[in-house]
Amino acid sequence: MTSPHHNYIGGIWCPAASGAMFDDRNPADIGDLVGAFPDSAEADVTSAIPAVRAAYPAWASASAETRADVLFRAAELMAVRADGIAAELTREEGKTLQEARNEARRIAANLRLYAGEALRLNGETYPAGAQQFVLSIREPVGVVGVITPWNFPLSMAARKIAPALAAGNGVVFKPSEITPLMGQRLVEVLLDAGLPSGVIALVQGRGPVVGRALTSSIGIDAVTFTGSFAVGREIARTLSTDVRGQLEMGGKNATVILADADIEKAAAIVERGAFGLTGQACTGTSRVLVARPLYDALVDRLAAIATKIVVGPGSQEGVGMGPLATTAQYDKVLGYIDIARDEGGRIVAGGRSLRNGALAAGNFVSPTVVADLPHSSRLLREEIFGPVIAVRAVDDLDEAIAIADDTEYGLAVSLVTSHLPSVLTFAQKTQHGIVKVNSPTTGVALNAPFGGFKHSSNQAAKEQGGATVMDFYTRIKTIYLGA
Ligand code: NAD
Repeated sequence: MTSPHHNYIGGIWCPAASGAMFDDRNPADIGDLVGAFPDSAEADVTSAIPAVRAAYPAWASASAETRADVLFRAAELMAVRADGIAAELTREEGKTLQEARNEARRIAANLRLYAGEALRLNGETYPAGAQQFVLSIREPVGVVGVITPWNFPLSMAARKIAPALAAGNGVVFKPSEITPLMGQRLVEVLLDAGLPSGVIALVQGRGPVVGRALTSSIGIDAVTFTGSFAVGREIARTLSTDVRGQLEMGGKNATVILADADIEKAAAIVERGAFGLTGQACTGTSRVLVARPLYDALVDRLAAIATKIVVGPGSQEGVGMGPLATTAQYDKVLGYIDIARDEGGRIVAGGRSLRNGALAAGNFVSPTVVADLPHSSRLLREEIFGPVIAVRAVDDLDEAIAIADDTEYGLAVSLVTSHLPSVLTFAQKTQHGIVKVNSPTTGVALNAPFGGFKHSSNQAAKEQGGATVMDFYTRIKTIYLGA
């Protein structure tokens, strides 16, 4: 293995050129230092890019089987290391051990999926005259900049890096500064699986410095980004016209519950979508739009559920919800709870910091349910990214669809009902890229297209599985073969 907590540039683990470091801390106990990582600057990025540029053509011209084999081996290694990496993920990001294991194990499946894609990079043939063939082939785009968020630090990175490598690209990877260790672990798995050393570079550091350098430097052919809309918009404005950009951004996801729904089942669906991962999922449920006859009963049921969730360090047995990943997240969530109070919302569960007693050193807040907010409420429109749900009564399906869509985002939405005509109307009308029926807004298939509408995505090509998954990482060349 390698020296810990370095950048990886030109096949060498190395500190930032300046020698600067930043601290990575456990959000369940801020006094616990997970590690110190290179606080890189533009110079580190501009040395990483040419190193990858020099190395990737050999990888691109290796056989598809060779590339697939490396990714299959990485999948096997990831499965073997999953539990150890999951424990580190809990310590670094805060999610519960079960959530961390789910993520780490999923990466093995992601890597297998994209290993298969390496073997399926088909072109097409076109009708042509006698003595001629016209065909298209796929080539790698070149050097891909990968910028990822902290909430799924393995998953987001794997589903960008693996297809990029499957297609024969080189990668410059900048993980979130909140979860640098997970970025390092993924790169180690790929290298230990036999990825040629210079094909990937890992540059740790802060977004505005490393991310900006990556998106504005010459020598990058594509940037794939997952994170907030504000940063995604900045990247879109920065990218040169010949650099392709894939931007997957925030969400303001709603679960709609119609009058025929079973309250217990509906409440369980909301619980999973809203409070799993401490509400820090891009597809997390943050609004519940419920048929008026069920409103009071559902509010009571959600309040009872939220009150029972055991909050604590994700590493502890029996804990149902870990801390928020950063102090900034903690402040933001409490800020939105204050806004809810100012707007006249009724806090029926939670609504407070839990930073006291045994939890005094972590970013803990209680799962929160807010009822009776006015239609104008910011909690019904803005992404909170924490364990807070706003519940609102609606009179019919049309009103539910209108409110669900009354936000700048359009990532995931779900509907709880057995009424098929309503399901069909909802699925066809809603302005969200992912529509779930009788299941939470969170939780997606790794072999189906993933991505939102409006401010949730620039729709460059859908991530995960599906027919278009490799389009972002390949470019098409058309060849005319004559005799
Ligand atoms: P963020 O936008 O703050 O950061 C994302 C990444 O961008 C980090 O690596 C960060 O260092 C980097 N970055 C920051 N400033 C940059 C800049 N100026 N130029 C280039 N890169 C820069 O987001 P976050 O707080 O890490 O993650 C939370 C957000 O991510 C939420 O909005 C959430 O909805 C979204 N998200 C979306 C999806 C999805 O698939 N749609 C999945 C997970 C998270």
